[in-house]
Amino acid sequence: MESPRAAATLLASPALVDDHGPMSDEAKNPGGPEKQRGLLRPGEIERAVGYKSKTGFRPRLGVGGPNLDPDPPALKLLSLPGHRADGEASSAHSERPKALTASPSAVDSSAPRILERQEIAPGLLRLRVERPAGFEFRAGQHVKFGVPGNLRSYTLASDPDEPHLEFFIELQSGGRLSDRLRSIGEGARTAIGPAGKGSFVIDPSVPNHVFVATVTGIAPFVSILREQARHGFPAGRFIVLHGASYVPEFGYADELTELAAAHPDRLEYLPTVSRPQDSRNRGWSGATGRVDALLAEALRRRGLTANATAVYACGNSGMIRNVRATAARHGLPFRSEAFD
Ligand SMILES: Cc1cc2nc3c(=O)[nH]c(=O)nc-3n(C[C@H](O)[C@H](O)[C@H](O)COP(=O)(O)OP(=O)(O)OC[C@H]3O[C@@H](n4cnc5c(N)ncnc54)[C@H](O)[C@@H]3O)c2cc1C
Repeated sequence: MESPRAAATLLASPALVDDHGPMSDEAKNPGGPEKQRGLLRPGEIERAVGYKSKTGFRPRLGVGGPNLDPDPPALKLLSLPGHRADGEASSAHSERPKALTASPSAVDSSAPRILERQEIAPGLLRLRVERPAGFEFRAGQHVKFGVPGNLRSYTLASDPDEPHLEFFIELQSGGRLSDRLRSIGEGARTAIGPAGKGSFVIDPSVPNHVFVATVTGIAPFVSILREQARHGFPAGRFIVLHGASYVPEFGYADELTELAAAHPDRLEYLPTVSRPQDSRNRGWSGATGRVDALLAEALRRRGLTANATAVYACGNSGMIRNVRATAARHGLPFRSEAFD
């Protein structure tokens, strides 16, 4: 039998197909020509892609949350070069997946469910999702995630070693997937790509890492820091600058504050609010102002030098532009991931 990893690269439901067009004939015929090309039959898909966690994690299903979604059919995403299932800009936007196989019965029982849904501020979700068997990613990477027929890129906030997957999602008003996620509840089935993607990971060539994030842009850094914490922060130094308009948007403030207190030589966490006068920020005694404006001072005060420090920015592209310019002025290597 094929490995779970190999099986997870199969697109297993018509519902997975995004908004860009109808399914191929092959996709409608899972036991047909695909088998000859080495794709799985329905029962094989089910056996190969069972979602039982590798560490025995047992999901808490169907409790709490709006749970309004009628448990949409499940799917797997086939990752093909140039195919953007989420509708993001791509030169290969209209390209169709080349290998599809469909089995509603198989995929219904294997698509990952939402385990926990927390709305930490209006429109700001922390989601825990079942981890498909064989799903691998590196701290900092993203994956296609959503509901059948509607997927977007989301960065994983969980440590690659955790038994579940975690996302930190800001719902966009009028956004197609955002509107679905607004009403989806715990226990509902989701859709997810086969593995983590992207190169927004830690630069191993330097000891000092300065992370700059706006709101949900903290997700890759949470993943990286959780991984570091699991290993006891063996080396290096991490400075996290996190910007938001309002205090409740600092989704991981407690966790990062505790981690920094436990590893003061390794980690600093510096949240800043850009609208200090707003009533939602009453009582705030931390930094104020835009997060990109803190970078130059943070570098200067810590004496972080060009050959030992990398700067990373994640979140909105305006912030990323400013951080890139500051990093360039200081001659520092720079990595970024824009969400908008
Ligand atoms: C590599 C990558 C990783 C990402 N990781 C995350 C993540 O961890 N958490 C997260 O919340 N989002 C993340 N995003 C953004 C996410 O993929 C979606 O774009 C977003 O959730 C909106 O999807 P939608 O279907 O609701 O909106 P759509 O229907 O696709 O778009 C609706 C409108 O919203 C605008 N829009 C889309 N995204 C944003 C945004 N982030 N800010 C402002 N306007 C936007 C669009 O331009 C459009 O005008 C990531 C994007 C990329 C490319």
